Amino acid sequence: MLIPVEEHLARILNTVHELTPTRTALDHALGCVLATDIRSRVSLPGFDNSAMDGYAVYSSDVADASSQAPVQLPVEGDIAAGDTTHHRLRAGRTFRIMTGAPVPIGADAIVPVEQTDAGVKSVSIYEGVPHGRHVRPQGEDVGEGTIVLRRGTRLSARHIALAAAVGHGELSVIPTPRVVVISTGDELITPGQVPGFGQVVDSNGPMIAAVARELDVVASRVGGVADDEETVLRTLRAQLGRADAIITTGGVSMGAYDAVKAVLTRLGTVQFDRVAMQPGKPQGFGTIGEHNTPVFTLPGNPVSALVSFHAFVAPALRLMAGRPAFESAPLEAQAAQAWPSPSGKLQFARVALEHDSDGLKARSAGGQGSHVLGSLAEADGFALVPPHITRVEIGDRLLVMPLGSAATSRRGGADWYGRAWCGTEVSE
Ligand code: AMP
Ligand code: MG
Repeated sequence: MLIPVEEHLARILNTVHELTPTRTALDHALGCVLATDIRSRVSLPGFDNSAMDGYAVYSSDVADASSQAPVQLPVEGDIAAGDTTHHRLRAGRTFRIMTGAPVPIGADAIVPVEQTDAGVKSVSIYEGVPHGRHVRPQGEDVGEGTIVLRRGTRLSARHIALAAAVGHGELSVIPTPRVVVISTGDELITPGQVPGFGQVVDSNGPMIAAVARELDVVASRVGGVADDEETVLRTLRAQLGRADAIITTGGVSMGAYDAVKAVLTRLGTVQFDRVAMQPGKPQGFGTIGEHNTPVFTLPGNPVSALVSFHAFVAPALRLMAGRPAFESAPLEAQAAQAWPSPSGKLQFARVALEHDSDGLKARSAGGQGSHVLGSLAEADGFALVPPHITRVEIGDRLLVMPLGSAATSRRGGADWYGRAWCGTEVSE
């Protein structure tokens, strides 16, 4: 019995949970999700300061200044950024002041240096300024004690800047999940080695680690684990302590040497299912060890492994990181080519995307075999062809799961699997 993609995904998403918050230095917080609201410990700006290089004045002193009749003021001294003295300005005088420096008590405006003769001991002012001009008042930007960032915010550079500015050197965040990628197969050799007869380079390990990193997950990997139950078990045990999730590839089909399946069937809650999808039918998922670490067992064929990662592992890792399972909507494209699709399975068809005058066009990215890496590299996305469609026709509307830096659109929360996708059935 095949189970639908949605059902397998739902079991996974109902099992994994958000990681426990930790305090993290700002430099390590990028991409993490805030676990608490952040309040400002200060006001921003913290003091009235100058927006210009110029002269701090009583605006009333310079109201009549013009180039024909400049107003001349004695300069009391300089105030530079970083000056911590509380200077006081007397009427009829001025301080030369730099951008960001504290405005002296009494002054209510800044005359930009461009409107003066730039004098040092005494300055001629050619044009007046109204009250308040070029002064950045204390608290104008952020009031002390206000919430500046909400729990659940995924931290990007601008959030980190704000947190720093309002007085936080550390933040409480959902930590970045750490995954360990384990490639299994007696045939596997390390990338860079030249395969002998019967040998295959471990491309899944680097691929899955890389696609995990594209999600801002910390990935490490163990390559070329032998198809031997003892070895697989030992490797899993050794990696458990350093992983928030384990991803294996290979060894989960119906073969006599499928050690991953043999070992994990006996451990924790791992369950093996045949999912109604192509490629990627054999899927295993469950938790093992004292911390109930999620384990995803992906098929060994590289295309199946990548499809499975995008379909099941990526949404789970996002949830563990405190993010929505899906952060972008599928792309909408029109088939520029016809191709067959298996009955009763959701097809993840590798497609190359191209924009033309009336939108995004999808054509098959070459061979669709689950072992074909050449055409995988050509693909911009997976077109999701629903189980009841047996042939995609030219002009059919398709939903496409974008891969990496393809022509993506980033719109918010989306229902990837619940909609009808093809031909005339697209709703809206
Ligand atoms: P399996 O799922 O172990 O039966 O493997 C299915 C196919 O995927 C076989 O042709 C394997 O050689 C290939 N394969 C398994 N693991 C990897 C890997 N890490 N890198 C590249 N190909 C692999
Ligand atoms: Mg194998």
